[in-house]
Amino acid sequence: YADTAMYQVKEKGRDSIEFFNEEMADKVSRQLVMEGDLHRALEEGQFELYYQPKMDVISSRVVGAEALLRWKHPTKGMVSPVDFIPVLETSGMIIDVGQWVLEDACKTLVKWSEQGLWHEGMKLSINISPRQFRRAAFVQDVIDTIERFPIPPNSLDMEITEGIVIQRVEDAIATMTLLSDKGISFSLDDFGTGYSSISYLKRLPVSTLKIDQGFVRDIIVDRNDRVLVETIITMGNLLDMELVAEGVEEAEQLAILKAFGCHFYQGYLFSMPVELAVFESILRTDQQRILEPA
Ligand code: C2E
Ligand code: MG
Ligand code: MG
Ligand code: MG
Repeated sequence: YADTAMYQVKEKGRDSIEFFNEEMADKVSRQLVMEGDLHRALEEGQFELYYQPKMDVISSRVVGAEALLRWKHPTKGMVSPVDFIPVLETSGMIIDVGQWVLEDACKTLVKWSEQGLWHEGMKLSINISPRQFRRAAFVQDVIDTIERFPIPPNSLDMEITEGIVIQRVEDAIATMTLLSDKGISFSLDDFGTGYSSISYLKRLPVSTLKIDQGFVRDIIVDRNDRVLVETIITMGNLLDMELVAEGVEEAEQLAILKAFGCHFYQGYLFSMPVELAVFESILRTDQQRILEPA
């Protein structure tokens, strides 16, 4: 196969080889520049967590939030995690940045509980990269961190993807079990896009399935997606798991999800991910609603 590729390159002549090299060199140099910028970002406090409310489908109350990483670049403005998380992962910097995310989330949980904004049963989810999760010291580092911050019991949730689990199921179960014992729950993120084998699902200490937004997006127009979403919800309910639909933008999507038996949702329909102060005002408003029901 490699010989064939080489042959094709040769056929096209020297120009194409140089073009190919230049393009690769360009990519590598852009990556290196970004790595430098990301190091500085961590040192200079350019990272910030945004919060997207997680809503109860039936009562429309806030049941928690997902913390999503933002990079406020001094000249480029807000950089999307889609653009820099892969660089953090390949460079290994995700370990330090992931630790920052965990600590910042814990600090915020402590503050919210002190201010009476966080109630029993509410959960803050953070996203965990494969590289973080598979590290031998991951469990101990997390335990050390949550012991330094007196977070409310059972208030922290970790979102991982199926890919993390499938490669080394036994190791994943061991890691998750140790952390579950400390009150941390687990959600499977982007569910439906991976392998989704029911046999291993049953064995994992996972409490929540997050239905990928790709399926939710076309739930009204695409019958296949609708059937798939209904199947995931039915299966999740049979396995006693909580179901969160991601990327809900329209009331009609929410109505379908509700009819299928989905419990929770996140999406622009209620709120985009917002900065800390804005999320806190959402929490206050939500509490006001219980004290003074309409
Ligand atoms: P994710 O964990 O699947 O997060 C959901 C993404 O969907 C977020 O994108 C969120 O802003 C977006 N979203 C939420 N509601 C809607 C909606 O109604 N419509 C649309 N079109 N999009 C919606 P975001 O914040 O850009 O994050 C992208 C991905 O970056 C995340 O996907 C996650 O995989 C990764 N990520 C974000 N923060 C962290 C972090 O702290 N650590 C790690 N390892 N990964 C992170
Ligand atoms: Mg997530
Ligand atoms: Mg997701
Ligand atoms: Mg995603």
